[in-house]
Amino acid sequence: MDDLNKLANEVRTCKLCSLAATRTKAVPGEGPARVELLLIGEGPGFNEDQQGRPFVGAAGQYLNELLEKAGFKRADVYITNVVKCRPPSNRDPLPDEIGACAPYLDRQIALLNPTVVVTLGRYSMARWFPNEKISAIHGRARRIGGCVVVAMYHPAAALHQSALRSTIEEDFRKLKQIIAEAQGKPEATPAVPKPPTKDEGEQLSLF
Ligand code: URA
Ligand code: SF4
Repeated sequence: MDDLNKLANEVRTCKLCSLAATRTKAVPGEGPARVELLLIGEGPGFNEDQQGRPFVGAAGQYLNELLEKAGFKRADVYITNVVKCRPPSNRDPLPDEIGACAPYLDRQIALLNPTVVVTLGRYSMARWFPNEKISAIHGRARRIGGCVVVAMYHPAAALHQSALRSTIEEDFRKLKQIIAEAQGKPEATPAVPKPPTKDEGEQLSLF
């Protein structure tokens, strides 16, 4: 069995914090073993807890749409959460739960070695940007200790606040370019030369 599957099995039987007592199914995360993009949400909700899979409810539907509009297939990215078990009534995860679960996320990041990490919402953002505001830093790529990390609003927040929808969609649409730059391929050469547009010259400035 590969290391990611082994980790997933550990998560499914984990009792390291009190969320183990109330979960239906733990949600280790899903995706291929080699990814350019790792997305990290907050924690499982009702549907995720029932199915043992991340982002399968309403926020998940919207995440699928965001990925597709940005040119990604869900099957090509890895999706996980800060805590792998559902907090009762979808309350926020507590610091000791986040701390108990962190080694799983650490190991997933080390095994996947993604080109870019996207944090969805404040709990995953806090791991890299503990003192920052999402409104100030969303959509911007930063290189932090071997990872290129981009903080984004949580899809559920954007679902409930229509004003955030265009913001999160725009941030997702920058991801292909951020990945290309992180891989040292600033110009993903188009097959046919593009005619100049009025947007040209608006270089994405990263890191
Ligand atoms: N919200 C999250 O943060 N994670 C999920 O898996 C589903 C909804
Ligand atoms: Fe274990 Fe994480 Fe689930 Fe807590 S939330 S029981 S640490 S897998």
